[in-house]
Formats: sequence, structure tokens, C-alpha cells
Amino acid sequence: MKLINDCHLMNITPRPDIVMVRGQGSYLWDSLGQRYLDFMQGWAVNALGHAPPELRAALSNQAELLVTPSPAFHNAPQLDLAQKLAELSGLDEVHFSNSGAEANEVAIKLARKWGKVNKNGAYEVITTHDAFHGRTLAMMAASGKPGWNQLFPPLPDGFRKVCYGDVSAVAAAITPHTAAVMVEPIQGEAGVVVPPDDYLRKLRQLADERNILLILDEVQTGMGRTGTLLCYQHHRIIPDILTLGKGLGAGYPISATLARKHASCFEFGDQGGTFNGSPLGTAVANAIVDVIAQREFLEHVLEMGAYLEQQLHQLKKPWSATRVRGRGLLWAMELGCNRAEEIRDSALRHGLIINAARPSVLRLSPSLRVTRDEVDEAVECLKQALLATLPESRSFSLHSA
Ligand code: PMP
Repeated sequence: MKLINDCHLMNITPRPDIVMVRGQGSYLWDSLGQRYLDFMQGWAVNALGHAPPELRAALSNQAELLVTPSPAFHNAPQLDLAQKLAELSGLDEVHFSNSGAEANEVAIKLARKWGKVNKNGAYEVITTHDAFHGRTLAMMAASGKPGWNQLFPPLPDGFRKVCYGDVSAVAAAITPHTAAVMVEPIQGEAGVVVPPDDYLRKLRQLADERNILLILDEVQTGMGRTGTLLCYQHHRIIPDILTLGKGLGAGYPISATLARKHASCFEFGDQGGTFNGSPLGTAVANAIVDVIAQREFLEHVLEMGAYLEQQLHQLKKPWSATRVRGRGLLWAMELGCNRAEEIRDSALRHGLIINAARPSVLRLSPSLRVTRDEVDEAVECLKQALLATLPESRSFSLHSA
């Protein structure tokens, strides 16, 4: 794709030659008035779609009242949100920050502090190959994205990697230095990799038996994305530490690290941050949580998720190598060939925004308010994009799909 020349942005990613100017619900519009159906929603950020009324109202009401008194003081929306999240998650205490990476940094600091206080200075955290935990130096070290360990040496020490989905690999990697194991309930950036159904339950059991903490990174899977408020609630366990981001502010940058009492071991001076828990962000997140935690809302996610899954299975039939996987409203098509970026670009030309999480994987993460008609429209655009890009690999006519 062509790049907009002469712009003053640092060169971090190729972007299509269009400028987005407006968003509403499931749709985005560019500066030329072209409309796009957005099934990426900022990498699963806009849980309620673009410009949801709840976010706009909370932002403008709070902006008129108090933007920030500084983190040196309590503020009402922060106290409310902490209580709400503790009650809904089953964890006890919360620290707010501004991005998923930062929330994960806080989780690692907590684990190291816990190891220092309770386990003879244990500091290591076991993480998984292909994991994504963010782009700070420590989170690049924690992540298992291929090639990342070579990018900015030296990376912080203290992470051991094992295969995702394999509890015995975690057990074998535990040493007297191990403080915690950290995983995503579903690996989002790796291409929506769903682990065996008993993975989280067995990890919980192992962590208890071997006296290490279980940290769940729910930056992508949390806030209703998989059909329960938090993905671990499908498995009836509670982690020791939990991180949230993305959908928590539904587009406003706010993240959270939650811990159970025994793991909430910071002392004064251990953690801070200029914008942490600002009334603006926490007022927005309060409004978003109030919507997402409703039973009917989560039922809608499950219903639309099941419909999207069914439509994707229909769609993949002519392309025999293609697989579909996911949960709730987080889905991937594994193509069996490395042409995901071409299909993503073709989908954009057909008016649909999806992303290529891996060279062979397309990912769909629509608004949690997506409708059946919007799913139909997306699947039709994707069909056109697949036909345009992979006509040769169809195993039978699309009319039978
Ligand atoms: N953890 C997970 C599971 C993520 O998917 C992401 C973002 N894709 C992050 C952490 C990092 O979040 P942020 O970009 O807000 O720092």
C-alpha cells in the first residue's frame, strides 16, 4: 500500500493512504466520505463501537467537574471504579494506569515484590512463546513474539518461556526463583490461539501447589470480549493478579492491575504515575463497566459470537485449508497460506476493516454491540476479498457455501 508522504510521524508501521475522520457504532468514515465496516475496532478496544453515547456523556460530564486533582488525592470516580471492579472480578485491590503494557509492568512488579517478601527473593516469571504483553522493554522481554528478543538488547532479565497451552511445561520450568506464571486466557495477537479447556484450571492448581502467583493478562480478552465479563469466569477460577486495558475505557486510554489481598503487596513509593486513576478515565470506565457487566449485554455478545462463528464456518468451506477459532466476539481465520495481509487489504477495498494478526491469520474483533445485519455485511465483504485474493485455492463453487 502507498504511504502518505511528507507526514511528520515516526516510521513505525505501513498505513493505507487514507485518513479516518469520524466513527459511529460499527462504522468509520474517511476524509473522502468513504464508509468502512469496522471489525477490528482498534484491536478490540472499542467494546461499545465508535463514539458510544455512554462514553461521550461520561467524558463531558466529568470534564466539567474535575479532570485531575493529581494522584496524590482520592477522587470519587476512581474509588467507585475500584470497588466495582473488585466486586465483579473477585480480586481485592486495584491500581489504574494508562495502557495494557503499563498494567502488565505493574503486575510483574507486584510478583517480584511478593517473591522478595514471601519467597526468598524469587523474581522469575514464566511466560509463553507467542505471548503479547506490550511494548515497553520489560513487556517485550515477557512477550514471546518471534524476533522481539533481538530488537533492543539488552532486554530486562527474569522471564522464562514455555509453550502455550502446556501445563506440564510450566511445572517443569518452575525453580526456587519462580515468583509467578503469566498467560493470556486466549492469545490474541498470536492469532486468537485458544488453549485446552482445562488450561487455566490446571494452572490455578499448579500455582497453588507450587506457591507461585497466577497472573492473567486480560487486556484483550477482558471486558466482555469472550462473552463473560472476564474470560477466566468461563473456567470458574480466580487469578492472583489480573490486568485489564483496551475495552475498559472502550476507546479512552485506561488500564488496571488487580490483585488479591495476599498479592497486593506494594508499599509507599513502589508504584505511581502522573495520570493514574484520573477522574476523566475512571468516570468513563465506570460508565462502560455498567453497560458491559449487564447479563443481557453479555448474552448479546454470546449470541452474536455464535452467529459470527457459524457464518465464518460457512464462509471457510470452499477454502479447505482454512480453520476458524475463537470465543465470544474474538475470532480468527487461519488460512493455510501466508496471504492474510493481501486479504486484509482487499477487504479494506471492499469496505471492511479486519486485521492480519499473523501472516496466515485474519482476526475479527467487532464492537460488542454488533448486529446480525452487520455480521452478514462483514461476511459478504470478506467473501469478496477471499474470492479476489485466493480464487485459485477454492475447492468448490462459492454457491454451495
Ligand atoms: N496484553 C495483551 C494481551 C494485548 O493484546 C495488548 C495489546 N494488543 C497488550 C497487552 C498491550 O496493550 P497496550 O497496547 O495498551 O500497551
